Amino acid sequence: MLLDNKKVVIIGAGPGGLTLARLLQKKNIKVQVYERDYDKNARVQGSPLDLHQDSGLAALKEAGLIEAFQQNFLRGADREKIMDQNAETHYSDHHHKKEDDFNNKYFRPEIDRGVLRSILLQSLMPNTVVWNSHFISMEPQDNGWLLHFKDSASVYADLVIGADGANSKIRSYITDVKPFYTGITMLEGHIEGASRNTPVINTLLEGGKIMAFGNNQNLLMGQKSNGDIGYYASFRVPEDWRIHNGILHYNNNEVLQWFQSAYSQWNPIWEQLFTAATPPLIPRPIYCVPLDQYWVPNHNVTVLGDAAHVMPPFAGEGVNMAMLDALKLSRLLTADAKTNMLETIAAYEEEMRARTSVIAQESLQNGEIMHNEYALKSMVEMFSKH
Ligand SMILES: Cc1cc2nc3c(=O)[nH]c(=O)nc-3n(C[C@H](O)[C@H](O)[C@H](O)COP(=O)(O)OP(=O)(O)OC[C@H]3O[C@@H](n4cnc5c(N)ncnc54)[C@H](O)[C@@H]3O)c2cc1C
Repeated sequence: MLLDNKKVVIIGAGPGGLTLARLLQKKNIKVQVYERDYDKNARVQGSPLDLHQDSGLAALKEAGLIEAFQQNFLRGADREKIMDQNAETHYSDHHHKKEDDFNNKYFRPEIDRGVLRSILLQSLMPNTVVWNSHFISMEPQDNGWLLHFKDSASVYADLVIGADGANSKIRSYITDVKPFYTGITMLEGHIEGASRNTPVINTLLEGGKIMAFGNNQNLLMGQKSNGDIGYYASFRVPEDWRIHNGILHYNNNEVLQWFQSAYSQWNPIWEQLFTAATPPLIPRPIYCVPLDQYWVPNHNVTVLGDAAHVMPPFAGEGVNMAMLDALKLSRLLTADAKTNMLETIAAYEEEMRARTSVIAQESLQNGEIMHNEYALKSMVEMFSKH
């Protein structure tokens, strides 16, 4: 096999990097993952993720982890309500959607990000992940790379795979092509003990998700497994809003005042989201790779997931594409066919760029639809068709 006696290093223990590590270990490949988080108990931020049958779930199936997923997914959390700014419901699938429908190709079960990470971590051989390892730079050595980390020893690898997310450092060793700002920023919040701290919104959620639209803005929220709520306010602002908005993101009063002024046409019912949030609220400007991105392949370094193709989250595909990259790359790297590393990486990257360009375009289009004056109508029509 191509990787016999080769040292494979993955940078980043997100869903993409960990899925790849698991799939390679299943084929007895030696692999090490370097992650900047301090340890496995680091809080994984963000709302739950929905996994899709032909991508995220297909990767878990091949990884032998579908039973673990089925035991841990959030039953009913994929149920969706579409509301307006006054919390009037315009669409709900709460009364006709099954909780556990793994044979339906449209079933998109939700899972907490932290739970997904735990399932993947538990499937790996001991000490596969080297925590507290912040990758800084690398330089060519022999036929591979010498990698340097903040405050820890350097490491040699024959093959480096960058799974280090949207701000990937590995990507810069492959291409100068940079993601562009989409014009949309999301402000991420988190509420602990939602039934106690935001009882009205908790009742509206009914254990599922809400997408609320009005005035070219939206609020998106979902239930987590421990009774918390993760949510995003999503709106159009210049790229540097994150820096120049004048809000202290750890001060709920300041964020509430911003919401009251920026979302002035929204019903005060939503204010609970900001008064009860556990600080800080995190601004996340949304980026996308150019749809025609191309680079010349290398034989000893590649990227997957957001490092390769960050895209807006409005089609819910980011994590699914990351896990599908891992599945496709692992198959090529462990195939018996006689190829060399350059051909293998070239084949992986060509398919990955073509596939994710289509998905990124769909995600961009959804972002446009969700932030214009017809958002509510369009989204109700889109969901009613399914
Ligand atoms: C606001 C928002 C909402 C989203 N909602 C959804 C959604 O609903 N559905 C969906 O599918 N996707 C969603 N996404 C996208 C999704 O989060 C990503 O597509 C997915 O996490 C990509 O996985 P990944 O493994 O490629 O990267 P990440 O999950 O970003 O993992 C990268 C890992 O690399 C580590 N790392 C980074 N730099 C270094 C370094 N220098 N050294 C060592 N380690 C490093 C990080 O700590 C992290 O653990 C959303 C994204 C955003 C911003």
